[in-house]
Amino acid sequence: MKAIISAGVGALGMFAVAGLVSGAEATPGEMPSAAVAQDTPVVQQTPPPPRRRSWWSRNRYPGPIPTPEEWRPPAGPVRIALQVGHWRADEAPLELSGLRRNGTSWNGTHEREFNLVIVRRTAAMLEELGYVVDILPAVVPPDYRAHLFLAIHADASNDPGARGYRVSAPRRDATGRAQDFVDLLYQTYGPATGIRRLEDTTRRMRNYYAFNYRRYEHALHPMTIAAIIETGFLTNAGDRAVIMNQPERVARGIVDAIKAFPITPPPGRSED
Ligand SMILES: [Zn+2]
Repeated sequence: MKAIISAGVGALGMFAVAGLVSGAEATPGEMPSAAVAQDTPVVQQTPPPPRRRSWWSRNRYPGPIPTPEEWRPPAGPVRIALQVGHWRADEAPLELSGLRRNGTSWNGTHEREFNLVIVRRTAAMLEELGYVVDILPAVVPPDYRAHLFLAIHADASNDPGARGYRVSAPRRDATGRAQDFVDLLYQTYGPATGIRRLEDTTRRMRNYYAFNYRRYEHALHPMTIAAIIETGFLTNAGDRAVIMNQPERVARGIVDAIKAFPITPPPGRSED
């Protein structure tokens, strides 16, 4: 009956890059090439790439990053993306290979199972209201656009007393609108679920890999308004009673925030 805890949400970004950086950083003059090949099976015997001082800090986003003044909603009806944390992570491409071994679990059940139930419940409520909903796996399609993206995860701790939910906007938010949604979620999620709010966000949340279009190809378009929620602690009996047994309350907390967000008002059935 033990909780199995592994690194939470965002360490995956670092894992994913670490393997590559060690190879890309090696300079021919400093290290025999045989040693390089041995240490870095990922980088095959291909000619060394042009030397870059900071491979990982290179901006992979091809073009100027838009500013909040330039933000426009994507074409078409209001589209909400709900990402199931860790779902189908085994399909992760090389740049996100760290995803494959990530996430928490409780009593032998991986976090993704709980996340999936919540996302499906939330999606059903949103569709009932007339929203277009995309349910996304751990790997986001390159340059993904929606009116709003929410990643759904759950926490765990060695301390069964640790409880509460947290929400975060991206550290770098080109839309300038994510924090408004986060604030709404803080207003709706607690009352809907009875789960207490944790004031702090983690660096892993703020730097969530799907937000990081500068580093990863499989990331959101910078104009996609995004947030991440840790719905509560699977290792806490009180939080778990809601997450596991009353997922409709979790879904309600999320849906209420989406409805209240001026950019994603309920479309109404008339557009069907
Ligand atoms: Zn997670």
